[in-house]
Amino acid sequence: MRAVIRKTAKAPEVLSGADSPATRELRKLKAWFAAPSGRPPAFAVYKADSVKQQLDELFHGKCAYCESVFASTAPVDVEHYRPKGAVSEDASHPGYWWVAMDWDNLLPSCIDCNRKRKQVTPRLSARLLTLRDDRQGFNQGSLLLSGKKDSFPILGQRAMSEAADFADEYPLLLDPCRDNPDEHLKFHIDRANLIGLVLPKSHSGADLPPLVGTAPGIALDSHLEEALAAGLSLKGSVSIHVYGLNRLGLVQERTRLLRQLEFLEVLALEVGAMADELLPDPTAAPSATVASIAKRLYFLQDRILGEMKRMARPEAPYSAMVRAWIEDFKIRLQA
Ligand SMILES: [Zn+2]
Repeated sequence: MRAVIRKTAKAPEVLSGADSPATRELRKLKAWFAAPSGRPPAFAVYKADSVKQQLDELFHGKCAYCESVFASTAPVDVEHYRPKGAVSEDASHPGYWWVAMDWDNLLPSCIDCNRKRKQVTPRLSARLLTLRDDRQGFNQGSLLLSGKKDSFPILGQRAMSEAADFADEYPLLLDPCRDNPDEHLKFHIDRANLIGLVLPKSHSGADLPPLVGTAPGIALDSHLEEALAAGLSLKGSVSIHVYGLNRLGLVQERTRLLRQLEFLEVLALEVGAMADELLPDPTAAPSATVASIAKRLYFLQDRILGEMKRMARPEAPYSAMVRAWIEDFKIRLQA
């Protein structure tokens, strides 16, 4: 998941303005919820073509959660960060219908991150510190239910109606437009054990509502408790679990990319070393042929490093992981 600045795209016209289709839809919904009778009005404006187009542009045709590119193979699935018609965690909640047509609440999602279904997922604790000893993770993996659907786990006070304040909610799911995913998620970068896992990051929890950990009466599920005890980001842990960010297909795709990065890294270093060997003495003038070959090798090395950078661009799949690899590469080079 990579941070996206929503302001860089204009809100689609259907969603903004005093007499926009969104305003009219909201008016109808308000009237219905004030005095429910018959079927509630349908949610339609959020899936307008212009909304899809704008989301596609803002997220480069990628899923907001897992960074898979799906624009080329599937139409964009417009997802509600705060679910519009129900909340899985609270059966009495009508859903956040009043933000169903709010631009800030809409994200593009791939089918796997959004739909609830069982996915092969490695059996890893929230702690994930034993990963190295547990390379059999996927063999012992199990079918876990993941996919966001109507999930919206929070800490704090849930907003039940339009009059409530979202500031009292502490969402446990990452929104790449509101949170900086880099503060909550990290990638498993280990050249000896290439596996594209995403892990929750250590987190101070300074922004958590005060009730957590201090009020023994608050029931946290075991997953949260474990993350909290290990000093890991709750948002990171819950997001990995709910979006299914370590489902088999995704881990395989990311692992493939890691192998490619590893290959490019070896190539770049080797080509550079060959050029260095051709020019062992910087004060001596090499022959024209040697100078030309060295130059071409350095040029080739630049091309390879450029290719790695290209793989980290915002429009590239799994760019957050590629960026993490490059950061690690820089540290290795200095060492
Ligand atoms: Zn996804």
